[in-house]
Amino acid sequence: MKIKKGIGVCPGVAIAPAVVIDTEDFDIPQRHIPTDHAQAEIARLKNAVHVSKAELLDLQKRTVERIGKEAASIFDFHLGLLSDKILQSKFTDTITGGHVTAEYAVATVLRGYAKEFLAMPQYLAERVKDVYDIEKRLLRNLTGQRKQSLGHLRQDVVVLAHDMTPSQTAGMDRKHILGMAIDAGGPTSHTAIVARAMGIPTVVSLSDVSSEAAGGDIVIIDGNRGLVILQPDAKTINEYARLGQEQVEFAHSLDVLRELPAETKDGHVISLLGNIEFPDEAEKVIEKGGQGIGLYRTEFLYLGSDREPTEEDQYKAYRQVLERFKGRTVVIRTLDLGADKYTQSRARSPERNPMLGCRSIRLCLQNIPMFKTQLRALLRAAVHGDAWIMFPLISSIPEFRQAKAVLKDVAEDLEEENIAYRADMPVGMMVETPSAALMADTFAKEVDFFSIGTNDLIQYTLAVDRGNEKVSSLFTPTNPAVIRLIAEVIKAAHRHRIDVSLCGEMGANPEYTLLLLGLGLEKFSCSPPSIPEIKKIIRSVTLSQARKVAQRVMDLDSETEITNYLRSQTRRIFPEAYMEP
Ligand code: PEP
Ligand code: MG
Repeated sequence: MKIKKGIGVCPGVAIAPAVVIDTEDFDIPQRHIPTDHAQAEIARLKNAVHVSKAELLDLQKRTVERIGKEAASIFDFHLGLLSDKILQSKFTDTITGGHVTAEYAVATVLRGYAKEFLAMPQYLAERVKDVYDIEKRLLRNLTGQRKQSLGHLRQDVVVLAHDMTPSQTAGMDRKHILGMAIDAGGPTSHTAIVARAMGIPTVVSLSDVSSEAAGGDIVIIDGNRGLVILQPDAKTINEYARLGQEQVEFAHSLDVLRELPAETKDGHVISLLGNIEFPDEAEKVIEKGGQGIGLYRTEFLYLGSDREPTEEDQYKAYRQVLERFKGRTVVIRTLDLGADKYTQSRARSPERNPMLGCRSIRLCLQNIPMFKTQLRALLRAAVHGDAWIMFPLISSIPEFRQAKAVLKDVAEDLEEENIAYRADMPVGMMVETPSAALMADTFAKEVDFFSIGTNDLIQYTLAVDRGNEKVSSLFTPTNPAVIRLIAEVIKAAHRHRIDVSLCGEMGANPEYTLLLLGLGLEKFSCSPPSIPEIKKIIRSVTLSQARKVAQRVMDLDSETEITNYLRSQTRRIFPEAYMEP
């Protein structure tokens, strides 16, 4: 039995035989053909294009049915490119001019396209993945090497892969794919988004799991703990099967909390909001009893599309969410592209330290037209509900002022153009750098609200890359330095009477709820599946109990002590959260 540790991105247990997906690039040798074979090669290629298009149309149709139009739009680019006359004549010219096989023509022409994409602005460079995807589909249809299709499965499986392309993930057969284990990727990769949207227990960042299992081996995926168990013994399989069943029953038992307030036993009402990436997810927040949206990660509209979304695309997406929440708060975060939200290996000029590089608000302030397009859409959509706007990764006062000045410019343009917009939208910032946390008192005089982004705050405070599995044991919210920064930000917000919430993953973990409550946090925002558990904890304690816990934590000086203490306190009031196989 072998246990692999990664990052759980969608909770739950899955036990099934593995399908191992090989996503290594095809290696196509340059083989010359006699001149009179060219027409036959062209005919083979045309047939492969035809079959590929039919597959894609089918995939697109099934994706619309399963996940929705937005995810299915991934395939527009694939279909468009395959129908492109210029591409077809390039294929033909390469075969006839170079006396090469259809496979070689596909590989060289599409590699050329990939290079051109890489030379485009960074967010477009991500599309290169789709070009590779098209190349692989064509080659597979040419060589007849049919790979395991994840769209048509006959039995339940778990998928093990080095990495997944967007179309592989979106085209998956949800009915038969019970879980996924991926070597690459982080919590914000395409695979993670689609897995979460589909509710498939998934673990990413496993580094080599796909090379350690063979197709047909029974594998256990534990999405809660981020574990993958290879060659499990019968006892472990039985234990996990029981755990899976108990988890499902437990999740159902929390459904009764949906309409109840997140109120402590001594009557303090806490706001519990949801984090979303796509407009469709708003429904899940409501389903799980969330009162609004505390973090709408708008960059996913860019990542999930093959072109830069227009002002209208963005306006429609924001409006859809605002209307669904009818007057309840929706915090829309401006684009947080860059760093982990690119494929660095494929970016045009990879940055040496992307996490410390041109990401997030920095990228927007260096691409004003792109930033302004989003701000126009946002200001216009804001008239349809209670929209709040938030800038990510603010690290200095001038940076916040600069972002706000661009927002003002955009509002003035709309005013001049006589276009309806909301002028009095609250403008806040994410506190996710130590510099922002340390200067919280100064920022609080200029911003309407804070949202603490612990994912990045931990990364930058502890100098631990949040996506690097080699240092993941050092990435902990219980480091006293992190807790002190959070405590100070909450205090500064209270002193200046501004709103403060916490939207990093720390807020979604029941082990930290007591501490955060005790530090004075009154607003939590987390992924929809976590809402019921956090509500359960809040409703099980008094605020004075939580304050005592926070005081005790402040006296401890090591993360191990703090983790153990919080675990023991949480276990006492919420033993179900510690279900183990
Ligand atoms: C965070 O950093 O905590 C956060 C919520 O933002 P993201 O995870 O999108 O970087
Ligand atoms: Mg962040």
